[in-house]
Amino acid sequence: MSGPRMQAAIFDAPGAIRIADAPKPTPGPSEALVRVKAAGLCAGDLYIFTGKNPYVSYPRIGCHEIAGVVEAYGAGASGPAVGSRVVVDPFIGCGRCYPCRIGKRNCCANLQIVGVHREGGFADYVSAPATNLVPVPDSLIDFEAAFAEPVAIGVQGCRRGEVTADDTVLVLGAGPIGLAIVEVARARGAKVYATDLSAERLTTAADLGATPVAGGAGLLERVMEITNGEGMPVVMEATGAVAAMEQTIDLVASGGRIVILGLVKKGTGVTLPGLDFTRKEVTIHGSRASVDCFPEALDLLASGKIHYPKIASSFALGEAPAVFARLADNPMALHKAVFIPEAA
Ligand SMILES: [Zn+2]
Ligand SMILES: [Zn+2]
Repeated sequence: MSGPRMQAAIFDAPGAIRIADAPKPTPGPSEALVRVKAAGLCAGDLYIFTGKNPYVSYPRIGCHEIAGVVEAYGAGASGPAVGSRVVVDPFIGCGRCYPCRIGKRNCCANLQIVGVHREGGFADYVSAPATNLVPVPDSLIDFEAAFAEPVAIGVQGCRRGEVTADDTVLVLGAGPIGLAIVEVARARGAKVYATDLSAERLTTAADLGATPVAGGAGLLERVMEITNGEGMPVVMEATGAVAAMEQTIDLVASGGRIVILGLVKKGTGVTLPGLDFTRKEVTIHGSRASVDCFPEALDLLASGKIHYPKIASSFALGEAPAVFARLADNPMALHKAVFIPEAA
């Protein structure tokens, strides 16, 4: 062992995470070194822990929701001043493939994600391309800045759905992504309804400003009653459940938009009545993670319009093994966990 060391939470294999000494990263050319101040735990990290993330190789330092301070740059790299506060946009595109060429590096054919394909932020330090650093407004504390990534997913969904103050939006699913959409759509001035099978999740959505609609049998009838039989102008799917995805076409108004954010398992088919594509002239958008949404997400967080950080919990990084074990046992045990490295 040579060179500087740091503390990190390392996934060794499915079910195995440990706090250990790891090499402090050296920023490569065009890269920055960031001292981590706050590191959010996302469902994706839980999937790395439970062995359900198909893109990860072990051992790996997880975490793609990173707020910190610029420590140094590698050769030839520049960006926000050393010592300034930043978040790390974790999606690294190749810059050469078709989606990258049209500004959709979130769909890059050779996508690399910080904390999945390369070491992430459950550590004292992380390195990332300098172009992936986004400055944090002074008024925003590190803990809240770490929510830029999940909020950006809501921004992307609302951009895809072109949600404005004139819209009425139905969000299917009140998990972390559904709640991010609720908050961003509310911040845009839209009237927002949310539905979920879990009464507990629905209560959280209501706390964040959505009008709750009970999920399950009778949802369509309830939505038609709310909309005088027209259906919802915008339907945002954030459950990943096939039945919910298939119901979007019935829930949406003629001329309306559907945005699909939920993930189904690879190879899973979703059946929609083809006549409705033309009869309803419906627009169906996929929405994947986010691209160039971090500045808007940080502004929303700084404006105080996003309340999700208020129901999150913070932990020392050393508590990561216990927190992961608890969430693997019951994913609803916490709304959201954010780790604070000891060196922060
Ligand atoms: Zn995330
Ligand atoms: Zn690419």
